[in-house]
Amino acid sequence: MNSIKENLYRVWERIEKAAQKSGRKREDITLVAVTKTVEVERIREGIEAGIKEIGENRVQEAREKIPLLPREGIKWHMVGHLQRNKAKYAVRLFDMIQSLDSLSLAEELEKRCQKENRTLEVLIEVNIGGEETKFGVAPQEVISLIEKVKDFPHLKIKGLMCVPPWLEDPEKVRPYFIQMRELKEKVIEEKIPGVEMKYLSMGMTDDFEIAIEEGANMVRLGRAIFGERKK
Ligand SMILES: *Cc1c(COP(=O)(O)O)cnc(C)c1O
Repeated sequence: MNSIKENLYRVWERIEKAAQKSGRKREDITLVAVTKTVEVERIREGIEAGIKEIGENRVQEAREKIPLLPREGIKWHMVGHLQRNKAKYAVRLFDMIQSLDSLSLAEELEKRCQKENRTLEVLIEVNIGGEETKFGVAPQEVISLIEKVKDFPHLKIKGLMCVPPWLEDPEKVRPYFIQMRELKEKVIEEKIPGVEMKYLSMGMTDDFEIAIEEGANMVRLGRAIFGERKK
């Protein structure tokens, strides 16, 4: 098995190649290392190897692990579905919520941020494949949700995120990535005050190169860095 450091270097090389294909540089792409099920010691190893942004998908797991790890110099991302009753913990733990998928969650986050005197970056999660089993807002509802959340003083909308349908052949996922890029462009055209479409978060271990070719500038990788998950 390769070390985390070796995996990370290989991942950066692959990110660089994919970025070049779409006329960008490796520094234009933000790598979020997804550490669900990964033990604290191995996350620390990853941080020593240069990981700067880390994603977790469950509040409970994050509550156990994040306090044992550095906050300084690390940006923590919530990438999984967030229940309203966990919002108060999420606000304390994370710097960015990538899975904002309803007005009621936004209201709860805003209320909790106000209490904690904190500002959170958020991405709107889009259910780009229209899958019943997935969270996220429908593409046609993205702009109306943004219009409602844009005036919340403690939430800063920074872009869009998606988890497209899982398909054996990653090439078949490409059309979803293209739709996401087009959706991002549509939001930009609306020129909504206070809304910055800085990030397009898409692409995981099986398809991140294709996502980058189609415009992703934030990829979320777990297995490519830490190996297969046991659980
Ligand atoms: C697990 C997870 C990832 C990383 O998946 P890999 O296939 O291990 O790269 C990315 N995004 C979300 C939302 C996840 O839950």
